[in-house]
Amino acid sequence: DFSVSLPKASNDEIGELSSSIQTLANDLNYLKKERTEFLASISHEIRTPLTYIKGYTDIARRDSLSEKERLNYLNIIYEESNHVGDLLKELFDLAKMDQNTFSISKEKVKICSFIHSIYHKMKPAFDSKGVNLVLDCKITAIVNIDPNRFEQVLLNLLDNALKYSDINSLTKIEITNEKNFISIFVKDQGTGIPDEDLPYIFDRLYRVDKSRSRLTGGFGLGLSIVKEIVDAHGGTISVESRIDKGTCFKITLKGQ
Ligand code: ADP
Repeated sequence: DFSVSLPKASNDEIGELSSSIQTLANDLNYLKKERTEFLASISHEIRTPLTYIKGYTDIARRDSLSEKERLNYLNIIYEESNHVGDLLKELFDLAKMDQNTFSISKEKVKICSFIHSIYHKMKPAFDSKGVNLVLDCKITAIVNIDPNRFEQVLLNLLDNALKYSDINSLTKIEITNEKNFISIFVKDQGTGIPDEDLPYIFDRLYRVDKSRSRLTGGFGLGLSIVKEIVDAHGGTISVESRIDKGTCFKITLKGQ
């Protein structure tokens, strides 16, 4: 620990300095604890799929297996390797953001046609789960964004909307223009997020239901990446949610 032994707080400059140093030491200890916890969670996230990969590789090597059984095990191995690959990709993005080497290259984009192409990309995934995806965008506004990074933002939000929605529900993307601000809403009718979890969902590795994570396949990194990208564009992101009613994410950007 970064422990400091300082003179008793007095009411002069020395006292002020001593309490600043104390605060700094507390912050450093907090960061150290956070880093240790982050590494422990990541190790766990990687160890679990590796355990599956190792176990199923052992089984798949057996001579006695039928081709069908072997294929089944190979498919699991393939999915679990993808899982580790996805995690590493997200971690790499976060590492670049921390080092400020995450490049944003902005260009002027017609917001509606941009969102339209994302809508068409995601529509088949929604259709195949029986969730209705609709788009409401009638404005002609132009925004200055990095289209690749912003696509990542929207795919992430839509991916979550789909993950946490049931069949026959509705997910709506809506774009509005008020004064010089463009707002993008992604609104679902899914499980919702408990009030006590809402303040933390943009934190790294935060997941509401830890036990469900292997089924839904998330690491709790998606929204922290989303927020960092929106912040890097000078925008804001907020969320409103009600249990069993749904969740609405709102991104606001300055128009051109
Ligand atoms: P994950 O990859 O686990 O989905 P995210 O960072 O994208 O991680 O989201 C963090 C947590 O916020 C999720 O684990 C989930 O509990 C909750 N969450 C995010 N989006 C939604 C949504 N649209 N509906 C319900 N819960 C959500």
